[in-house]
Amino acid sequence: MEIIRDPQSMQDQALQWRAEGQRIVLVPTMGYFHPGHLSLMKYGRTQADRLVVSLFVNPTQFSPTEDLDRYPRDWARDFELAKAVGVDLMFTPPPEQIYPPGYQTYVAVEGLTQRLCGASRPGHFRGVTTIVMKLFNLVQPQVAVFGEKDYQQLIAIQRMVLDLNLPVAVIGRPLVREPDGLAMSSRNAYLSQDQRQAALCLYKGILAARELVATGELSAPKITEAVRQIITHTPHTTIDYVAVVDPLTLEEVETIQGAARLALAVWVGNTRLIDNTLLEESCLCCV
Ligand code: AMP
Repeated sequence: MEIIRDPQSMQDQALQWRAEGQRIVLVPTMGYFHPGHLSLMKYGRTQADRLVVSLFVNPTQFSPTEDLDRYPRDWARDFELAKAVGVDLMFTPPPEQIYPPGYQTYVAVEGLTQRLCGASRPGHFRGVTTIVMKLFNLVQPQVAVFGEKDYQQLIAIQRMVLDLNLPVAVIGRPLVREPDGLAMSSRNAYLSQDQRQAALCLYKGILAARELVATGELSAPKITEAVRQIITHTPHTTIDYVAVVDPLTLEEVETIQGAARLALAVWVGNTRLIDNTLLEESCLCCV
């Protein structure tokens, strides 16, 4: 497995592969790999002649009060795990080469990034879409793979690709959970034992919502209230948001018609966790 740090060398390599007609797949990450990350790489492997994984803790998507400095890092372990799933190239640029002095260009998707996580993390998605745009330019992928764990991020990137006519297919892959249901996340490493237990309330809320929908409840306020009850009765937690939204616009809906997304963000101690699930109106012919 090759490791490239220098952005120019990355782009030179990518352009050479493209000239040879090779299909490049990119999996962007911030590292500290878990099986959720590896599932994206394994999928990417099936689609690629050249599988590139970027490992970059992107400073522009963190606000000054957030966890940029303490974000978990273990590059040696990440390299081993990436090698084992067949990654061809890890791109690990230094922040000062991605944002050199004088840097002043950003890409922002409006509208849908103002909602949900965007409301409590102003500027976050501008940082995300900017780094993804730069990675697309540096790595020249035909395909980029993202996890549905960060559902709003996935939708924002798909919107950017559509709006800016970028020649990249953006694929969303399913959220990977721990055996007890907690969504895998690098940030789970911050949780104490008590908080780890409390963190299960997100998944319990999701299960309750799915159950309500399966029994015919389609009212978004009733579903979100049931989820809120579960979370507020769990110690160490503070709700940021619980919302039932349109899967593409991310606007809140009153009633589930066809499909909707339940999205939640909850503080567990000092750690902000997110989760989401598809809620589908059951088909009358199937009941
Ligand atoms: P991160 O390193 O947290 O920025 O995540 C890198 C990529 O992995 C993003 O596309 C995430 O959505 C995806 N990802 C993170 N956690 C999971 C998970 N539990 N299941 C599936 N994909 C995930």
